[in-house]
Amino acid sequence: TVSVVLFTSDLRVHDHPPLTAAVAAGDFVVPLFVRDGAIAASGFAAPNREAFLRDCLAGLDAGLRERGGRLVVRSGDVVDVVRGIAARARADEVHVAAGVSGYAQARERRLGRALEADGRRLRVHDAVITAVAPGAVTPSGGSDHFAVFTPYFKRWSAEGARRPLRAPRAVRVPEDVPSGRIPRRDAVRGVAEGLAAGGERAGRARMLAWRRDGIADYAARHDDLPGDATSRLSPHLHFGTLSPAELVHLAQERGGPGADAFVRQLCWRDFHHQVLAARPETSVADYRARHDRWRAGASADADIRAWQEGRTGYPVVDAAMRQLRHEGWLHNRGRLLAASFLTKTLYVDWRVGARHFLEHLVDGDIADNQLNWQWVAGTGTDTRPNRVLNPVLQGRRYDPDGVYVRRWVPELAGLEGGRVHEPWKLGAAERGRYDYPEPIVDLGEGLARFKRARGRE
Ligand code: FAD
Repeated sequence: TVSVVLFTSDLRVHDHPPLTAAVAAGDFVVPLFVRDGAIAASGFAAPNREAFLRDCLAGLDAGLRERGGRLVVRSGDVVDVVRGIAARARADEVHVAAGVSGYAQARERRLGRALEADGRRLRVHDAVITAVAPGAVTPSGGSDHFAVFTPYFKRWSAEGARRPLRAPRAVRVPEDVPSGRIPRRDAVRGVAEGLAAGGERAGRARMLAWRRDGIADYAARHDDLPGDATSRLSPHLHFGTLSPAELVHLAQERGGPGADAFVRQLCWRDFHHQVLAARPETSVADYRARHDRWRAGASADADIRAWQEGRTGYPVVDAAMRQLRHEGWLHNRGRLLAASFLTKTLYVDWRVGARHFLEHLVDGDIADNQLNWQWVAGTGTDTRPNRVLNPVLQGRRYDPDGVYVRRWVPELAGLEGGRVHEPWKLGAAERGRYDYPEPIVDLGEGLARFKRARGRE
């Protein structure tokens, strides 16, 4: 048997059910990655993710070469390319991980039909991109997905993550299929200065270091903004250089409150994936509550620009927005407070913020980004949709000594301690020494506008 393995968001050799199945099925395997023309044209391939992806492809090729194989890379329409490669290799089957987004699901259906017409079979593998497959657990009452996290977490935990698989020992690739070229990371323009390195080797090293040094303190420190004490595994999960099922098992074997809290976050990831899989339109459409009174026009545009550039006059918001730009990554607490500020205090449509995040985030993910934005905006699955985060209180609570703000907003580096969160309270003379903007909005006015818009006054 000859099989093609189509890699998408699963760029690894460890715990990879499609690859393992293809190796078990017979003699030859064509490990294939297609640089999808439609994704490139959609603008989704932002520079940070493009650079990280190139590391991942090089890493996957290296992992396959260690096993006697190699990666085959092509560009174009996925269905056309896979058909052509399968014909050339005289493959019987094509293996792929089940996708989640509307686009991935449609592509899978198209591919299945095209292969069938050629007399070949598409085998779609569940629980590769998530620890538990979307739809594997459903609420009683007949819905196809969970809309509330806590009951999902309960059922997800009872279901358990799939047992991780070892990487195959040997992968034999037919000689007459040329490899193609993996584009170089350093050729990508506009990459964030502080972008992390991609690839399975880097991902596994980070995972093991996390188990050794980080996970035990996670419950206590996950919200410590300056301490930066989260795993930073999100880009590896997005590109699938790490397996979510393997991470769940690794954490559960370690045990303790930190590991439990970490597993719960991995469940949040699966939660959003199962929502998107069942309701693919929510990548752009409001999930539950529809709101259409978002601000628009010149004054909103000016506020949006100030928010994007990190000059809203609220130091912790500005610090977050600058970290995002500098690293292509942002701490969860920073994402929460920056998103709440845009959607609730400035009352700007969550889609505007989500688009900006996707332009920069190396882990930018349709399920996790769009549905977290909806959660914060109160249009999604949040059970407290009218909660508004106050940026001053958030700053004082999660960055009490102002260390995070001073790291990212150097104009305020001379201000000591928590005073850095309210520069407008300084006396005029002292205030004049800092080249930092006045707040673009009064928090009280922002809150009143929010309540009016949501009809809660
Ligand atoms: P850790 O705290 O170490 O958590 C471990 C893993 O759990 C993460 O890598 C991630 O895969 C998962 N996870 C944690 N929190 C969440 C969550 N709320 N939703 C889904 N998965 C979660 N995450 C993305 O991966 N891609 C995105 O595009 C994305 N956009 C977001 C946008 C907003 C407005 C918000 C509020 C959150 C977003 N998140 C996104 C979720 C979360 O902020 C990041 O996953 C997390 O900050 C990544 O850092 P970490 O790997 O150190 O996380």
